[in-house]
Amino acid sequence: MRRTDVLIVGGGQAGLAMSRCLAAMRIEHVVLERGRVAERWRSERWDSLRLLTPNWMSRLPGFKYDGPDPDGFMSTSEVVAFFERYATSFPAPLETGTSVDSIEAAHGQFRVTTSGGVWLARNVVLATGYADAPLVPWLAARLDAGVLQVVPRDYRSPAALPRGGVVVIGASATGIQLADEIQASGRQVVISTGQHLRAPRRYRGRDIMWWLDRAGILDATVESVFDVDTSRQAPSFQLAGRPDHATIDLERLRRAGVIVTGRLKAVDGHRLQFDDDLVKTTAAADVKLASLLLRLDRAAGDLREPVEAAEPFEPLWPEFVSAPTGLDLQDAGIETVIWATGYTRTYPWLKLPLLDARGELLHQGGVTPCAGVYALGLPFQRTRKSAFIDGVGADARVLAEHIAVRLGHGVLRIPGHDTRHDSRIAV
Ligand SMILES: Cc1cc2nc3c(=O)[nH]c(=O)nc-3n(C[C@H](O)[C@H](O)[C@H](O)COP(=O)(O)OP(=O)(O)OC[C@H]3O[C@@H](n4cnc5c(N)ncnc54)[C@H](O)[C@@H]3O)c2cc1C
Repeated sequence: MRRTDVLIVGGGQAGLAMSRCLAAMRIEHVVLERGRVAERWRSERWDSLRLLTPNWMSRLPGFKYDGPDPDGFMSTSEVVAFFERYATSFPAPLETGTSVDSIEAAHGQFRVTTSGGVWLARNVVLATGYADAPLVPWLAARLDAGVLQVVPRDYRSPAALPRGGVVVIGASATGIQLADEIQASGRQVVISTGQHLRAPRRYRGRDIMWWLDRAGILDATVESVFDVDTSRQAPSFQLAGRPDHATIDLERLRRAGVIVTGRLKAVDGHRLQFDDDLVKTTAAADVKLASLLLRLDRAAGDLREPVEAAEPFEPLWPEFVSAPTGLDLQDAGIETVIWATGYTRTYPWLKLPLLDARGELLHQGGVTPCAGVYALGLPFQRTRKSAFIDGVGADARVLAEHIAVRLGHGVLRIPGHDTRHDSRIAV
């Protein structure tokens, strides 16, 4: 049996950032990854995907994007190369091709059974990703067996789909990007839209992520929001990282010929029924965007850098006053339904009572109620950007300090990090 002070499960950005922080503190650890570094960017993303965060936001502990195009958006192969470089930028004790099959308590430590043998760890960090498994509504089971059902993890490109039209369920970043590229490939797309958030790619001459960063919106903490559960489940902005920096929203899709409907309400074989709620959801998205832009305009007043004048706000809801509420897939020649309905997390290998009734990990800022078990990379773990490349590092630093204290290393400060605000986390 091998022993370690800290065993990290997962070699994505969270596992690597954690490893980098522990290495900086000289804390002995190992990172176990079932596939390769950044495996999900290699095998669970579609071909045309680019980050929706600009390159300058690819910032991790001890590493950041330093290429020639800070305002561009990395393709998935560039993301993989970026993380491969990160993993070799410090002596990361990484064991790839090793899956963790169970974690159980063992006399104050953790017995971790893997495909490569058993470990005894004093601490474990679960960094297996917030986008771990597709979240598909139960309605999917009522679809006719002849309709191909696809989740974004398995979608690659329009050419790989059967011929005919496509229904995309869900209009957050993923749904809207897939609807756009499939319609552009010459197929008829129907997109079913529930609650959503829209944003312009650029505002007042700057990228929207620049504004969210400068206005402190991405740094909002769990304590600062009204209801953290709601914030954790909030849809992602309808954004895409394209070389032309274009805004992508329901109106762009509508103009391209996509049929926009309300929320999927019922499924019966090849018949779909949609709520008559498109005005409600598009108007709600208008209100949220208007209030966000107002906040950015206020922030603009405090900036030292010059920005362009405020732009007039155009509501989109008047474009969506009529929408179909029923669709017969056979009559419409539609053979594929894509469930762009989000992600969930699964922990079948975790043999510790750490999950709530919904199967979510119990934690406060990544510190679980079981001493020595930590999680990293969860949505809104400590801040709104916790699951972003740009946010995971700050959370990793906090957990590394927590682990250092637990291991009796005292408080080892990582340069540049202030833990004064984290005193509520008990060791
Ligand atoms: C479609 C999409 C687009 C995104 N775009 C952006 C963006 O533009 N900018 C941004 O900042 N963020 C983006 N994100 C969010 C975030 O950056 C990614 O989800 C990122 O992959 C999260 O990194 P992670 O390390 O937390 O998890 P993951 O990348 O999921 O890594 C977890 C790792 O754990 C491994 N693993 C899982 N189970 C086990 C096990 N039992 N044993 C061993 N290993 C295991 C997996 O193989 C995987 O490599 C996007 C997310 C998605 C889904």
